[in-house]
Amino acid sequence: MADKLEKYRNKRDASRTPEPMPDKAPSTGGSAFVIQEHHASSLHWDLRLEHDGVLASWAIPKGLPGDPATNHLAVHTEDHPMEYLDFHGEIPKGEYGGGSMTIWDRGTYEGEKWSDREVKVVLHGRRAKGRFVLFRTDGKNWMIHRMDPPTRDPFPPPEPMLAIERSRLPRDADEYAFEFAWGGSRLLVPIVGGRTEAARRHPWLRPFARSFGSRTAVLDGEIVTLAGSEVLVCYDLLYDDGRSLTGQPYTARRAALEALELSAARWQTAPSWPGQAKAVRQAAREQGLPGVVAKRLDSPYEAGESKHWILVPA
Ligand code: MN
Repeated sequence: MADKLEKYRNKRDASRTPEPMPDKAPSTGGSAFVIQEHHASSLHWDLRLEHDGVLASWAIPKGLPGDPATNHLAVHTEDHPMEYLDFHGEIPKGEYGGGSMTIWDRGTYEGEKWSDREVKVVLHGRRAKGRFVLFRTDGKNWMIHRMDPPTRDPFPPPEPMLAIERSRLPRDADEYAFEFAWGGSRLLVPIVGGRTEAARRHPWLRPFARSFGSRTAVLDGEIVTLAGSEVLVCYDLLYDDGRSLTGQPYTARRAALEALELSAARWQTAPSWPGQAKAVRQAAREQGLPGVVAKRLDSPYEAGESKHWILVPA
């Protein structure tokens, strides 16, 4: 029988990588799987299914699809040794697959079909659950399709909530949070599989999206130029980790946004001051900002113009 791990060993130098380097593959009849999150030159998730004593492997750039409507690319890679079920760690830079690898999930699976071009499984993991089919499309390129109903809420429509302009701040200031109007360029940022389409126009958002790992999110904010550099200022969170937040009140969305602790040179959480109408307007004037936006604390997120967000010029 051919050595199933020959390709695996040929790609690696045992003296330079902490990865397991067994001599040969044992034959076992189990059905374990692991999914590793691999921050290599390009972020991806490695799905490995025990089969004939080795781990059949696919690299999935966007991770497992959460919805049967969207198939994800899965690139077939070399069989890995069974010891890889437990592997996590730092593969040295410059080596094959260099970068950090963590175990995203592991568990057992039921195999429903296994051929050279189609693999159908039911995953029983902590995070990965349900029926998936992998099917070959072209050479080493396969697709992975979720066969069970979606595990997550649908994404919100890609339309931002807009403030209406008024000349006066609302009188019942206690019902509102006050934020700066930034005068920047509005941007909804959907993040799936550590990637965002917003990075096409703003490549510097790539590491921002990547920092979310497998956490799906939709942020609302603006691109603002601060000290000569474009910065993403985030002020709302419409979707988080598979759940839509648009029906939740401002206060709940704000708490979820703050829990993300977005604070870096190029992405920040916009400050928000509940009840502080006059002080925020004064600060906006002093900083040369265009105005103040009053956002009703109990209001859901509504696409399009809403009376719950009130823009008052500084
Ligand atoms: Mn990998």
